Amino acid sequence: MPGRRTIGVDMGGSKLLAGAVDTGLSVHHRAYRSLTGLDQSSLLDVTVDAVEEARESSGGDVEAVGFGIPSLIDQRTGRAVISVNLALADIAFADVMAERLGLPVLVDNDANAAMVAEHRAGAARGCTEAIMLTVGTGIGGGLILRGELYRGAIGSGAELGHTVIDLDGPPCQGACPNRGCVEAMASGTALAHEALRVAREQPDSGLGRALSAGDELTGPLVTELAFDGDPAAGGVLELIGTRLGVAIATFVNVFNPQVVVIGGGVIAAGELLLGPARATVAQRALAPSRDEVKIVGAHFGVEAGMIGAASLAFDGVTQRG
Ligand SMILES: [Zn+2]
Repeated sequence: MPGRRTIGVDMGGSKLLAGAVDTGLSVHHRAYRSLTGLDQSSLLDVTVDAVEEARESSGGDVEAVGFGIPSLIDQRTGRAVISVNLALADIAFADVMAERLGLPVLVDNDANAAMVAEHRAGAARGCTEAIMLTVGTGIGGGLILRGELYRGAIGSGAELGHTVIDLDGPPCQGACPNRGCVEAMASGTALAHEALRVAREQPDSGLGRALSAGDELTGPLVTELAFDGDPAAGGVLELIGTRLGVAIATFVNVFNPQVVVIGGGVIAAGELLLGPARATVAQRALAPSRDEVKIVGAHFGVEAGMIGAASLAFDGVTQRG
């Protein structure tokens, strides 16, 4: 008998991962797509195509599809109300996808989905209070309070990435009207901006040489240079980790979590990012919360959102059944 499967889809600000997942949260097929520069219509087409690929290669019976999308969602209707970093706004996303795919569809915020995966089977397993930050194109936030995912009154919480860490900081990204948000100052996008600034200031550094060679100073390149020992690249990661730490210190004070889990593409930098974040929390957060909290990388890495979305889709099937 073929096994039960759901498809989990993590739509980041620039790329999509769709995976066929079983009830034990093992992944049987992965489909990747770029979303950069797509308008809403093309975005929907590309998404349907990726889900179909994962479905055909799933090796089982696909029962439902779960989406983690980087959007504020009205959980009463499944509508994506607004997205900071993606061309997805004012659309009945769940209904549109259910009709096009012919499968039950569940939609949640991408960082909420990542939090669910880490809470059920990853770095926040067994915790009653936990925080997730997904650091990629933007910064997503997820919260477990009293053992349950916290979504706010209508499902559009918890946007921890839009916590201000600098009153006079740079304007935030996309649809956010604020400035100095941790998303504007410590996301993968901010990391690339800082890397460019440092490369221009220090043309003889590894970063500077990469820039003059015509390389795009992306998060992965900065991380690679830092691991190779370039102090300029290491300094950029330290700055980003410190800024994350400033925001995390506030979250630690407010929520007294047992664990803060960092996911998203930027966490490939590992301790180069986590070390400065921990040091900043130790300096700035209040005792005793600061002494109890663990700050760790996501167990599921960049796949947390996809796996969480698939896990939520299984819940939906169970509730309907
Ligand atoms: Zn913001």
